[in-house]
Amino acid sequence: MIIKVMTLFPEMFVGPLGNSIIQRAKENGIVDIAYINMRDYADNKHKKVDDYPYGGGPGMVMTPQPIFDCYNDIVNTLVTEENQRPRVIYLSPKGKTFDQQMAIELSKEKSIVMICGHYEGIDQRVIDEIVTDEISIGDYVLTGGEIPAMVIIDAIARLVPGVLSQDQSFEEESFYSGLLEYPQYTRPKDFRGLIVPDILTSGDHKKIEEWRRRKSLKLTFERRPDLLKGVELSKKDKVFLESIKEEK
Ligand code: SAM
Repeated sequence: MIIKVMTLFPEMFVGPLGNSIIQRAKENGIVDIAYINMRDYADNKHKKVDDYPYGGGPGMVMTPQPIFDCYNDIVNTLVTEENQRPRVIYLSPKGKTFDQQMAIELSKEKSIVMICGHYEGIDQRVIDEIVTDEISIGDYVLTGGEIPAMVIIDAIARLVPGVLSQDQSFEEESFYSGLLEYPQYTRPKDFRGLIVPDILTSGDHKKIEEWRRRKSLKLTFERRPDLLKGVELSKKDKVFLESIKEEK
């Protein structure tokens, strides 16, 4: 997967995406991430990339010229590599809220371009002409699109085949099946009198699976009942959920 990030602050990405699993994925050539400074494309003497909004109002808006020229430069390399236009994501609080299903869908793309806004955002003509997806990471406003881009890159890169090793599988994680994940424990079995549930050390895999499913269902019911609507529930699951409701 190739990810090209258009930003005014490429240095912000170095630490968060330069360690651990994502760094290894880059070193192994599974994910290729490049940060392109849009300011380098500004065609004015002072490399200015923002201006006052038409119609008045507070703050500054990123001008279209550096963004269009930066994008055209990038897309030319991607088009020749794949012969198709890549998904172009503009990180924006006005976008569709990012979730695991979107991460799964995006992880299947061969290449993605991300545009990080700053100040009051970017000129609407960029969104109308170039952007294919506007994505928000939540209902709050951040200073720039860099942190949202990092969040999305981290979430999608770990789903690209070969990035996680087999024992780091994501299929059982929260949201993948639509449920929150069951509680996890590791050694020691007895930590200062706090004991791991017996079932997990019983060696009975069927019972462990059942216990985990029930814990997932209970946690999801208690914390995120909205998620249950999208989950395929077995007869057993339904009976169990009814029993929790009755308990309440
Ligand atoms: N004036 C904009 C508005 O009210 O919608 C907010 C601009 S914000 C200060 C600057 C930039 O940060 C945006 O252009 C966007 O790229 C990014 N940003 C801020 N909050 C975000 C969020 N929740 N999700 C994704 N990007 C966000």
